[in-house]
Amino acid sequence: MRGLCNLHAHTTYADGANTCEEMVLAAIAAGFESFGISEHSHVSPDVESEVDLANLTPESVPRFLDEMRGLKEKYVGKIALFTGVEQDALADMATDPFDYVIGSTHFVNKDGEYRFVDDGPDGQRETVDRLFGGDYYAFAQSYFAAESQVARLTGCDIIGHFDLVNKNNEGGRQFDTDNRRYRDAAMAAMEEILRTCRLFEVNTGAMYRVGRTEPYPQLWLWRELLARGGEVILSSDSHAVESVAYKFPEMAQLLRDAGFRYRKILTDRGFEDVRI
Ligand SMILES: [Zn+2]
Ligand SMILES: [Zn+2]
Repeated sequence: MRGLCNLHAHTTYADGANTCEEMVLAAIAAGFESFGISEHSHVSPDVESEVDLANLTPESVPRFLDEMRGLKEKYVGKIALFTGVEQDALADMATDPFDYVIGSTHFVNKDGEYRFVDDGPDGQRETVDRLFGGDYYAFAQSYFAAESQVARLTGCDIIGHFDLVNKNNEGGRQFDTDNRRYRDAAMAAMEEILRTCRLFEVNTGAMYRVGRTEPYPQLWLWRELLARGGEVILSSDSHAVESVAYKFPEMAQLLRDAGFRYRKILTDRGFEDVRI
């Protein structure tokens, strides 16, 4: 595949299984032109005190940046490497030292209580039952209200997993994404985000990790994005060497079928269009 690029990957600096160098070697072996590691940002103490996290810390950020600098030099000519951050909407760290920023919403806040959006199905059900009276649509509305602010809050280059709330919902087992309340909440978030950031991931992370049959965002959202001048970038949200390019050719074909003509990649000259 031409112009192979992934900017969403995790390592042992956060919740990934492999080191930075192992991920870089996997990307080289898979034929990537450019590759970025986007470690999870540190989040505010309010959030940190309530959820279990393995994110970057003020102490590990300099080590991560140093290690990536070394890898960029070591593999120059073989692959273009970039150091990113997956900046949560509730992050409390600066993004200036990073080459690019993915903006993501991982938490809902209800009555001052913070919970993971993408907990396992049981944890998510407990959140919905206890904080949202069992109403998954109210949960989704709360998520998309937070997501609508992610570009403004993070100053991101790329919108990460736009509909993460749909992670455990294979086959509509939790809620119906055709439901008006769901669709209106998602579209309101998209419209708001597009005022600040036009580039959305097509993210195959949950397809690899939990067997989802659709990426983030769902395909109906691609059409809405295309109609509003949004742009796309392929992303594997990879947490291990096996999945660095998971289903990229399939996603490119689907994007072509949906009417997209270009996808973005990051090169040493900045973000560029690649014909799909
Ligand atoms: Zn994420
Ligand atoms: Zn991620």
